[in-house]
Amino acid sequence: MTTTAPSAFIPAAGTPAQRGSHAIARAQIFNRLSIAVMFAVIIAIGSSGIFAIVKGQESDGVVAQSFERANNASEMRTALDREDVELLSQMRLRKGVESERIVRATEMFNAANLAVQRDGWTSSEPLLKQLASRQAAFVADSREVAGTLATGDYARAMRIHAEIVTPNVSAMRSALDAISAKLFRASVAGAAEDARIMWDLERFIGMVTSLGVLLMAGFAVLLGRYKRSADASAAVTLAVLEQAALTDSLTALGNNRSFYDDFERELARAKRHAHPLVLALIDIDDFKAVNDKGGHSHGDAVLTRIAEGFRTMRQEDRGYRIGGDEFALILVETGPEAAALALERLQNEIREFGLGASVSIGYVNLSGEQLDAESYELADTALYEAKRLGRNQTVCFESVSATVNVFSPRKAEAVRTLIAQGLLSTAFQPIWDMQSTHPLGFEALARPLPELGLSGPQEAFDVAERIRQLPELDTLCTRKTLEAAVNLPAGSVIFLNYSPASLVHGAFDPNTFVATVRAAGLLPQQIVMELTERRIDDPSAVAQRVAALRALGVRIALDDTGSGHAGLEILSKVRFDFVKIARGLIVAAMASSEARGVLAGIIAIARETGSYLIAEGIETGEMLDFVNKAHVPNFAGVRGIQGYLLGRPQTGHVDSRSLELHHDFLAARQLAEGRVGGSVDAISGEESGTGRWVPSVKPLVFR
Ligand code: GH3
Ligand code: MG
Repeated sequence: MTTTAPSAFIPAAGTPAQRGSHAIARAQIFNRLSIAVMFAVIIAIGSSGIFAIVKGQESDGVVAQSFERANNASEMRTALDREDVELLSQMRLRKGVESERIVRATEMFNAANLAVQRDGWTSSEPLLKQLASRQAAFVADSREVAGTLATGDYARAMRIHAEIVTPNVSAMRSALDAISAKLFRASVAGAAEDARIMWDLERFIGMVTSLGVLLMAGFAVLLGRYKRSADASAAVTLAVLEQAALTDSLTALGNNRSFYDDFERELARAKRHAHPLVLALIDIDDFKAVNDKGGHSHGDAVLTRIAEGFRTMRQEDRGYRIGGDEFALILVETGPEAAALALERLQNEIREFGLGASVSIGYVNLSGEQLDAESYELADTALYEAKRLGRNQTVCFESVSATVNVFSPRKAEAVRTLIAQGLLSTAFQPIWDMQSTHPLGFEALARPLPELGLSGPQEAFDVAERIRQLPELDTLCTRKTLEAAVNLPAGSVIFLNYSPASLVHGAFDPNTFVATVRAAGLLPQQIVMELTERRIDDPSAVAQRVAALRALGVRIALDDTGSGHAGLEILSKVRFDFVKIARGLIVAAMASSEARGVLAGIIAIARETGSYLIAEGIETGEMLDFVNKAHVPNFAGVRGIQGYLLGRPQTGHVDSRSLELHHDFLAARQLAEGRVGGSVDAISGEESGTGRWVPSVKPLVFR
């Protein structure tokens, strides 16, 4: 097998990240090489420049020196000529005097000669030595000629001049001419050498620069290439990382972030194209127990299997794991019927997996205006209902929207603020005893302050339950109610709403509760604790607490009886002093015999347990007539009434005038009906053809 060394230009194999780092390393090498070449070129050009300057200065000096020496030589030549001319003029005049001019000419020659000697080039120039002696001889000879002339021996002077002086002067002239010529030539040659060196340098710099530029260009190309390769790998790596940041590692579904991104996009798309959209939230039931029983790895396997179930849905539908055991599904372009079918099919599939775990599904159909609503909160509210209704089921938000409050982080914050700052007021509504036509007591109704933005007390309690602060809210309501009790007539009985979940909570202590009541200046006998029927999940735990409270003197009422499905069952398990019949059941009983059957059942149980029955939400004379006549054999039936007809909830001091008016109203009706006590034996009234209950106008016959 032969192996080929990988070329530097072939991207290395491996993951995008490995390829990217490889390319980056190469790019860095070429970058450094490019910089090194750039410095080398700069250094080469710089040092060549310095060399050129030094060399130029040196050669300028040599040229200038040669030139100056040549000048000296020509000056000597001039001085010699002058001496010779002087001598000749003496000869012509035949007058042998040592003239001033010849002395000056000699001095000039000597000065020139001295300058030559001072410059130190005589030693290297034997010609000059010879010249010096010739000059000395010339001076001596010319003196001799002058002396001879002075004696009048002109012929001898002529001879000396012709035979000795003239040849000497000629020899000196030619020597000086030779020196001058040589020196001028040297000066010109120096300049030429300078020019040659400069030219060589220019060529060198040009070459170095071109080579450098070429190398740098080459490196730049390679650098660009690896940089592009690194960029491409980085883009791939980034995409992989981004994908990982949006994916749940266990199930390979999109994660929470991916869900919110996609959901926002799908909402916008649905709005733009007016498509319906469905958001479903799926939470595994009792998953903690699944983990506890089968171990964490079994829990993981359950999560993975459920995630696989989503993949059998339509391709456009997308599933996400948005929390520990919580999933979300976005069903695009899906209407209500299709959604119900698809989610029911999913439920069945998960049941068929045989995982030993069920799921609860809450979903919301989104179209039109609902696309602008807090959709997640709507689906979450439906999921919460599915859990509350017993799990292992699917709840559509639309089916529960009338009875539940939508939970949202904003509302959670509002309730936290409410509890922390005690932002609620208490209103009191009278409850009348129909027999005595006096108030039996007052129901305390907590009202969150309007600035919190909550729709009412029910929402505050629903939200408090979701954020697990129900006991705190109940404690606050109790404290506020006890404080507000000063607004009631002295000795009044207070009907105080309390959440069954708070009552059975570990933190609740009947003795502490009673101590709080006493601390407010009230007797436990003045307190009736109202427990909402719909919210009682654990009747036996409630029964225990109820017994403890009753032992301490607090009385208990079952509130909203008939609004849920468990009223009769609870009544059979827990002993209540009062049973308050839900307004809804009364309205329904006025219209249907089935509801009247439920009402009769409640009345029958109350007769057995001796509970005092109160009808809530009495708003009209018609309703009052109906409850007046609701009875079972040998039992008075409904004895107390509460509702707008007989007093609205009031904050502040209870208006005694209004109480008197309502008292008179009740008393007048009692009188008109001739009803002064006793009981009636059946729910009376007549069925109209439509099944609606029509109140009897004739006075009831009392036994
Ligand atoms: P509910 O029916 O009210 O949903 O009860 P639950 O027990 O399922 O309660 P909840 O949904 O609040 O609990 C979720 C549990 O899921 C908590 C945690 O122990 C478990 N969990 C969270 N993430 C993982 C995970 O990645 N693997 C496993 N095996 N379990 C997880
Ligand atoms: Mg769960």
